[in-house]
Amino acid sequence: MDLLVDQYSRRIKSMRISITDRCNFRCRYCMPADGLPWLPKADILTYEEIARIARVAAAIGVEQIRVTGGEPLVRADVPVLIAMLRDLPGLKSLSLTTNGTRLPKLVKPLAEAGLTRINVSLDSLVPHKFFQITRRDALDSVLAGLDALEAYPAIRPIKVNAVAMRDFSEEEVLDFAALARRKSYVVRWIEFMPLDADQIWRKEDILTGGEIRAIIEGAYGPLVPVTTGDKSETARRFTFADGVGEVGFINPVSEPFCAECDRIRLTAEGGLRTCLFSQEETDLRAILRGGGSDADLAATMREAVWHKELKHYIGDTRFRRSKRSMSMIGG
Ligand code: SAM
Repeated sequence: MDLLVDQYSRRIKSMRISITDRCNFRCRYCMPADGLPWLPKADILTYEEIARIARVAAAIGVEQIRVTGGEPLVRADVPVLIAMLRDLPGLKSLSLTTNGTRLPKLVKPLAEAGLTRINVSLDSLVPHKFFQITRRDALDSVLAGLDALEAYPAIRPIKVNAVAMRDFSEEEVLDFAALARRKSYVVRWIEFMPLDADQIWRKEDILTGGEIRAIIEGAYGPLVPVTTGDKSETARRFTFADGVGEVGFINPVSEPFCAECDRIRLTAEGGLRTCLFSQEETDLRAILRGGGSDADLAATMREAVWHKELKHYIGDTRFRRSKRSMSMIGG
């Protein structure tokens, strides 16, 4: 079958699948304090429907799947979905992005189901600052989730992702660097993007990966680049000079990586998005529930991907916000 390729010759190899729009956090850069109107259950794809789309996507070139949300682990029986996806022909990587709070309970069944990689979001190591961002008093449960992961070497690497915000993150950069050296976690900083439901994003709030790197290098000396040859990797990766610990910088605003983008996203209700900032989605649920064949699904995905956006245009007069916030897309 023909692979997923866009008109700019970018081959799509990675799909992020949101399995719920709900979340147990209310992060300021993502969701309003009162949450959002949740999708009715009937609108959300079943695990069977998700697995079918994933199988078709894998058959036309998707090699990496990341399950996300909302908070994916607030949906029931996520290990069941992981087990359905783990052996898809062509799939090389199956990972999960989570806020970590439910990991103490779920890490064992997730590992047994076949999860092999994980990203845990953690923006502050200080309880009152953690609360300020997430509006939840849950730092301890996230740290307990990370601890629980350490007992499951089948799930590696453990990536800890922090959103960097000016006048908030600077004072913790070195604590996160120390965490990356003390634990086996890869700590990655992500630039704040205009994907928040409250529309508080301002250019001035971005703390760039370059600025964070300078803070770390001021304390530890020059970082050493880790080169993998994988151009589609979102993070610029570095180790410390003594080889202990890894940090990464995901710089979508200051150093956009659209030219190498190999990603598509599936929303919880089955919308295929070819860019985080897409203005339009392609409704795959209608095909699934309208009796369409796998060939119909593949053809629709190929057509949508062909028209994948050239770039996101953040910081340019051509930039237009997405109608959806990050929690409704699947980060
Ligand atoms: N609930 C899960 C979690 O916490 O990782 C998965 C979904 S969450 C939307 C995925 C990632 O998107 C998180 O790392 C979060 O910090 C990030 N995110 C959300 N809004 C963002 C924004 N406006 N800019 C940058 N990253 C954002």
